[in-house]
Amino acid sequence: MSFRTKLIFGIVAIQAVLLLVLIWSGLAVLRSSNEEALIKRANTTARLFASTTQAAVLATDLATLESFVGELVSNPGIVYVRVRSKQGVLAEGGEKKLLERAFVPDTSLTSAERDGAFDAYAEILVAGEKYGRVEIGFSITTIQQLISETRANSFTLAGVNLLLVGMFSLLLGIYLTRGLNALQQGAQHIAEGKFGYLIEVRGKDELAQTALAFNDMSSKLAHLDAERARKEEEIRRLNAELESRVIERTIQLQDVNKQLEHQALHDGLTNLPNRSLFHDRLMAALLAAHRSNEPLALIGIDLDLFKEINDTRGHLAGDLVLQHVAAASLETLRDSDTVARMGGDEFYILLPKVGDIASAVNVAERVLASIKKPVLVGGESVEVGASLGISIYPEHGKDADDLIAHSDAAMYEAKRGKHGVMVYKPEMGAGKNEAVALKGELRRALTGGEMVLHFQPKIDFNAQKINGVEALVRWQHPRLGLLYPDKFITLAEYSGQIKPLTIEVLKLALQQIHVWREQGMEFPVAVNVSAVNLQDRGFPEIVAAMLAEYEVPSRLLELEVTETAIMNEPLCAIDNIRKLDNIGVQVSIDDFGTGYSSMAYLQKLLVAKIKIDKSFVIDMDKDEKDNVIVRSTIDLAHNLGLKAVAEGVESEEVWDKLKAMGCDSAQGYYMSKPLTPEKFAEWIQSSPWGFTLPSDKKAVNE
Ligand code: C2E
Ligand code: CA
Ligand code: CA
Repeated sequence: MSFRTKLIFGIVAIQAVLLLVLIWSGLAVLRSSNEEALIKRANTTARLFASTTQAAVLATDLATLESFVGELVSNPGIVYVRVRSKQGVLAEGGEKKLLERAFVPDTSLTSAERDGAFDAYAEILVAGEKYGRVEIGFSITTIQQLISETRANSFTLAGVNLLLVGMFSLLLGIYLTRGLNALQQGAQHIAEGKFGYLIEVRGKDELAQTALAFNDMSSKLAHLDAERARKEEEIRRLNAELESRVIERTIQLQDVNKQLEHQALHDGLTNLPNRSLFHDRLMAALLAAHRSNEPLALIGIDLDLFKEINDTRGHLAGDLVLQHVAAASLETLRDSDTVARMGGDEFYILLPKVGDIASAVNVAERVLASIKKPVLVGGESVEVGASLGISIYPEHGKDADDLIAHSDAAMYEAKRGKHGVMVYKPEMGAGKNEAVALKGELRRALTGGEMVLHFQPKIDFNAQKINGVEALVRWQHPRLGLLYPDKFITLAEYSGQIKPLTIEVLKLALQQIHVWREQGMEFPVAVNVSAVNLQDRGFPEIVAAMLAEYEVPSRLLELEVTETAIMNEPLCAIDNIRKLDNIGVQVSIDDFGTGYSSMAYLQKLLVAKIKIDKSFVIDMDKDEKDNVIVRSTIDLAHNLGLKAVAEGVESEEVWDKLKAMGCDSAQGYYMSKPLTPEKFAEWIQSSPWGFTLPSDKKAVNE
């Protein structure tokens, strides 16, 4: 049943019930009022008749009374009439039967339904005294007729009323529910989410107001719904946008992560695996080698003089060299091999399936040859040297640490001996590990005053007196004691610390010259300079500045450079030596005979002396070959207009031979070992090659 029908039914039912109650009570009232009115009328009629008859009764005018009675009885509603005085009946008329029976006044129509008559009476009063009375019988049938007529009328009225009320109710219901139905439909529409539904508004009643309010609400809802839909759409759009952005970001992040992962595991400059990745691969390879019981090789590579290339030619040149080394190594290796840059100029190669030591050496030599191919740096062709050390699993170590330490040891040995490639041998010991530790400490040593100089005199053969000293550096190491140059010079060279070291030695030498001069001693002090210094075009200026700073005349400073250092970069060396000569600083060629000097260059070099290497001098008295070499070197020096100095003179025999050969000066343990300044002061006083200081100056020294 629809809401509308229910509502109509409800209204009609309520109306009907109300109406029934109304009719019921109405009828009751009607009925009672009909009866009462009739009784009243009967009684009034009786009283009227009593007053009408009063005079006639007083006068006992029977004829008048007879006519009155007759008149009244002729009324169809009256069945009998009687007039009594105290004495008895004065006149009477109507139905004999009723007149004959005893008169009992009636109080209600129903109770008076005796003999079909309603008995009413009225006293005839004269000055308040009863003179008689009238008795009238009213026809019950007539009264009932009247009542039923009235009732019928009432029923008709009630029926019509009911009908009207019913119709009204129905119409009202329909009217009301039409609006309500519209409202209900509207509500249903809204319930279904169809906002904006408008109800047709009729009239201005409350329902219409409600409809208006509904329409207003519906419009607002429609507006809100549209707004909500717009916002939802906006949120959807934003969500979609966000989602796509998240996806985009995720992809970007994944890319970045990949890049970061790659960066974390690779060297940025060469794109080779870095230390961390190399270590992982080494561990994996070791596991595999252990399982398969096959050997594995580790090759450590350290570039020779890389720092110097970096320092003298700039970082870009250094980067080019490192990239060249990476490419050179890669082109030599197989895909299963790994070459990694560990940092700086250190590289490692992992050969997971190497076969044997010989093939590892073969690979290392091919890598070295590839590295040594000249590389173009800043328009100039540069040859990069390297030292390679090999260790093999399981022979040289079972774990990564041992294998790395041992390939380092071999590599350090290769560097020291300039061998190129070396395979680890147990007697190499800690090798580079020790060097690595020293490398870290060297910087501190240079600034912390741990470098000291020892001085070794050079003796002039003619004068038989000291004609100069060589300054030899030592490292007073706080833990390891006094370290000799072979422990740290190469280290300083390939770790880029040779320049500060040379400056430190120059400083110490110049300070010592200053002290000696104050003590009245003047002789040239020779300082050893490395190939790196000789290739540094700013080096002569540094020397000049330092001479000025320590107020030392340039004639008191000499420099020794090895033959190989000059031949490394002859043009630059020639240039620098010329500049040094210009400022008055003499240069000697050190370790002569160990390298391969070109006569063409030798002639161009503005050097003052040639120092014959001690390896030829030490045993020249016993070794004829050495003897020949020394003799011809002295001759060569003289032919070039240079002085010859022999190093490593350990005996009188050698001294004598050199003297006989016309050698100019000699240096060696026979005359003196390198000495601390204190010991040197003693030596110079006591040695036949020394000299006596003026007494006042001696005091200064003590
Ligand atoms: P060098 O320039 O040839 O120096 C001479 C070396 O021979 C010194 O060794 C010296 O102690 C040693 N010697 C001298 N007379 C004899 C002898 O009669 N017999 C023997 N067997 N040896 C003798 P030292 O002091 O150990 O120096 C070794 C090398 O270290 C030097 O060789 C030099 O190349 C380098 N060096 C020393 N000081 C410096 C320095 O300040 N700067 C640079 N760049 N190199 C230095
Ligand atoms: Ca020297
Ligand atoms: Ca030497």
